[in-house]
Amino acid sequence: MRRSVKQVSGVSRDYKRRRTRFSVAVGSALSPVFVDSSVHHHQLMMTRLSVAVIGAGAGGLCAARHLVDRPDTFIFKIFEQTGRVGGTWVYTDETNTDQHGLPIHSSMYRDLRTNLPKEVMGFLDFPFHPTDQSFVHHSDVLKYLENYCNYYKLGEHIEFHVQVKSVSPLRLMEDKIVWKVVVENVKTKKEAAYDFDAIIVCNGHYSVPHIPDIPGVETFNGTQLHSHSYREPEKFTGLNVILLGASSSGVDISLELARHARQVGYEYSFPFLEDSCNLTIQDKRICPLYKHMIHTEFPSLIFIGIPFVVVPFPMFDLQVQYFLKTLDKTITLPSREDMNAETENDFQERLAKKMPPRHAHKLADSQWDYFEDLINGMALQPIPSDKEQPKPNHDKSLRSIADFPNLYNGPNANIPAASSALKCNWTPEKGRGLFANQDIKIGSVVIVEKPFAWTSSKEAMMDHCLHCCNYTIAPIPCPGCSSVCFCDEECREKAMNQYHIFECPILDHILESKDLSCMGLLVYRIIITANTQAIARSEMANENNTSVESKLHFISESLSCDETEQSLKSIPVNFSSESYISVYNQVTNTDKRTASDLLKRTVTACFLLRCLQSVVGDNKDEMLVGSRLLTHLQSCACNAYQISEQIVPQGDIKNSKEAEIGGAVYPTVSLCNHSCSPNVVRHSKAPERRYHSDISKSLGSSGVDWCWVWSARKGGRVYLAAEERGRAEEGFG
Ligand code: FAD
Repeated sequence: MRRSVKQVSGVSRDYKRRRTRFSVAVGSALSPVFVDSSVHHHQLMMTRLSVAVIGAGAGGLCAARHLVDRPDTFIFKIFEQTGRVGGTWVYTDETNTDQHGLPIHSSMYRDLRTNLPKEVMGFLDFPFHPTDQSFVHHSDVLKYLENYCNYYKLGEHIEFHVQVKSVSPLRLMEDKIVWKVVVENVKTKKEAAYDFDAIIVCNGHYSVPHIPDIPGVETFNGTQLHSHSYREPEKFTGLNVILLGASSSGVDISLELARHARQVGYEYSFPFLEDSCNLTIQDKRICPLYKHMIHTEFPSLIFIGIPFVVVPFPMFDLQVQYFLKTLDKTITLPSREDMNAETENDFQERLAKKMPPRHAHKLADSQWDYFEDLINGMALQPIPSDKEQPKPNHDKSLRSIADFPNLYNGPNANIPAASSALKCNWTPEKGRGLFANQDIKIGSVVIVEKPFAWTSSKEAMMDHCLHCCNYTIAPIPCPGCSSVCFCDEECREKAMNQYHIFECPILDHILESKDLSCMGLLVYRIIITANTQAIARSEMANENNTSVESKLHFISESLSCDETEQSLKSIPVNFSSESYISVYNQVTNTDKRTASDLLKRTVTACFLLRCLQSVVGDNKDEMLVGSRLLTHLQSCACNAYQISEQIVPQGDIKNSKEAEIGGAVYPTVSLCNHSCSPNVVRHSKAPERRYHSDISKSLGSSGVDWCWVWSARKGGRVYLAAEERGRAEEGFG
């Protein structure tokens, strides 16, 4: 039986007289509105398609996000009957009608958390803000949607408090439809009418309760409630409750209530579609919809979000993009007959699989095929499966150089981390530094360097892996201390073997010292790193001797330097970022320091020395180690770099702030650092971060991965700027 969806009531039919021709006012396929005078006349007629979006929930915002991206092709308006974006995620205690007499749209209940982890729930290009919890509270989803709206500047396209009352097609020619849309301002009750070339219906499908026929229900004396109107469990205290329906909401609410009740299920409802739209809904099957979204008779009418048991936001993203490509003719749809035949086949296959007719739009496991079908139709790159995703760099702390951009003009023969367009020089006036040996353009990458040593700050250690510095959602503990965490066993094993074994027993002493903390630990780490490098170079690396004492076997060798080999006044030969001497030769400014400053640093060096000795026992190289600690306590004060990350609250780039998460030593970068302009390089970003939507919190981390130059004239000193990539490209200047 064919059931009409026409449910328009009380809408004035004489809107033709009063209608605003949106197509004329702002341009449409029907009325070309602008001319590009720079092209030949036969190319002059450039037109834009006008699109109406009904609803500013997740679906409508997603449609707007893609429309706003293509101002040359589309103009659009979003009509939203309430005063806010977010649709069903706008929680309210109210349950019947709002102040303007509209039925309450939201079905959220007070304590609802998402039933999908936020790591997969978001739109494809807009990750949720990382928090400790994956299943976030409904208010977090609303904030996420508001940030999405702000980020893409969608607000200016939305008409709030405007309800779409009627949509009907007017066929101008065989293949030319104009959509007549009547809207009403719910506050003033004034109506307006528009013409559009296309309609995107995003009115939500979880607000019209489906109350099933239950034999004998009329004899039930208690309260009956649909989950749409459920808000909080306290109202049911002490009552015997029966809960009918075991889908997402049913199971979820049963956990809240323990013993309480409702019936679960919603109706598809499009009260604004006139009969002439020729849409039918029978037993939850909407016809005639190609790929569960495009009206086969009127392909400029689309319904977003019809399929259920899906991951909705990513699906909205794909559906909208697909539809826009049909509108701009990038995708040619099959004939109406073929679309209907494909749709019918799909339905018959479901019946053959013993699925009930009301599951015509249920996707569940088949959603991945559906997504793939849309992606293939658009000739987009497939979303990589877990197996296909780029393998993480094996040693995450020392990222492969292949991940970074190429050095401008190739690497320098003497200083491989720097560009060959640079040379190191020393002059009595300017001291030691990097200078341009040719004109260098703005933005050229001139240094790509791994830190010699780095460490996280005390605060960051709680939620960043000690070894790779990645923000860590499910941390793995250290077997010896509770101050640090790791992202996986591999990082933990490497950290324990290479350096944490020396830090673990004394870490709290260093971290708790008010004036030491990150700097003290970084200096300590430099000494340990030098020793670890020496072990790696030795045959001992192959021996299975894991005692802590034996691990410091190479300390004297690793720390002894021929102090004439390189000095502040010499031009480095074979300058290496991985060589201890490059760090040892950093400026200390000892002669400029006050006696009290030197005394304080000397006491600190003694303290760090005692810390080391308490781990490995008294060491015959006490003087050597102690003096090196003192050297680095001075050199790090002028040469170490802050490692920072950009915290973006809920994707709100404008209100992001920088947070220090550690410190690092970069010998080559330090060659650009001199007393006139200290620490010009502040932070950068690990390239892997671009691919991990779950850690968008960390826009920058792991110190300076690579640097680019502001610009330099031949002979001029080189100054660097930190690069910020990924999302930063879009939002940061
Ligand atoms: P909605 O969010 O319903 O938005 C529709 C908008 O259209 C509303 O703002 C409404 O006011 C407006 N509108 C309607 N009619 C008109 C009209 N005639 N004129 C103008 N404006 C109109 N999804 C998840 O991904 N994860 C979850 O954990 C999850 N949990 C859920 C829990 C509950 C209780 C419910 C009900 C749904 C849940 N969903 C969840 C699914 C959720 O519905 C979708 O994720 C998504 O928010 C739907 O967006 P939408 O834009 O299609 O509809």
